[in-house]
Amino acid sequence: MVFVRDPCGIICLIVTYGAIIYADYVVIYWIIPATMPLSIGAFNVALYNTVIFLLGMSHWRAAFSDPGFVPLPTKRLDFSDLHSGADQGGEWTLCTLCEIYRPPRAHHCTTCQRCICRADHHCPCINNCVGECNQKYFLQFLFYVGILCLYSVTLVLVSWIFPCAGCSKSLLESQLMHTIVLLMESTLFGLFVTLVMLDQLSVILYDETVLAAREQNGAYWSKRRRYQLLAQVFGPGHPMLWLLPRASLKDATRYHDAALLNHEV
Ligand SMILES: [Zn+2]
Ligand SMILES: [Zn+2]
Repeated sequence: MVFVRDPCGIICLIVTYGAIIYADYVVIYWIIPATMPLSIGAFNVALYNTVIFLLGMSHWRAAFSDPGFVPLPTKRLDFSDLHSGADQGGEWTLCTLCEIYRPPRAHHCTTCQRCICRADHHCPCINNCVGECNQKYFLQFLFYVGILCLYSVTLVLVSWIFPCAGCSKSLLESQLMHTIVLLMESTLFGLFVTLVMLDQLSVILYDETVLAAREQNGAYWSKRRRYQLLAQVFGPGHPMLWLLPRASLKDATRYHDAALLNHEV
């Protein structure tokens, strides 16, 4: 388990969990009992909390699993012959802070103080880096936050269209206050995760497709090629399975090359 001791990241984690718990409280306590009959209400509570469960699972995995740290050598490496690393793996580079050889697209993160394979960015929301091994969980987290925001906005609108008939004025005022806060929270988070998700997908699909296009004579937007690029992040299998925050086989076999290189040089 990975836990980065970064005060900013820890505050962001608390804010994220706090916002989700507050949304659940407003929906269960203020919206559903006053707006719906028992059976429809129970169904919505179950569905809303299923989304929260999947969101929590993917967030937990993104936050506390290894993002793809380049394995550290078991003994100090001899860097007197710098070409030995490059010869073995193309554009491999040397990180003088970690004292390791790292594969192409690996970068050093100053917060995690390690090199990360296929590093994307350090995200305070998950208090961890987004890299080769947890980008899938990060995208799932963004997806479920988006779904939860959409669901919350819908429930708020339903509560406004069908106000509680037998409720007192003070109760209705409290409900209105909480629903306004939830609407603002959902809109803000919803827009934010949509933008981050689009950016992530464009990096996965576009950056690599430019390279792939040269190899494949411009046929880079084919369905098959897009599947291949996404499968590099989400693992092989049906795209429906990509939404489940389960560990994939790739996690167990990753950076075999980096481990070999740093241990053998
Ligand atoms: Zn490094
Ligand atoms: Zn980091």
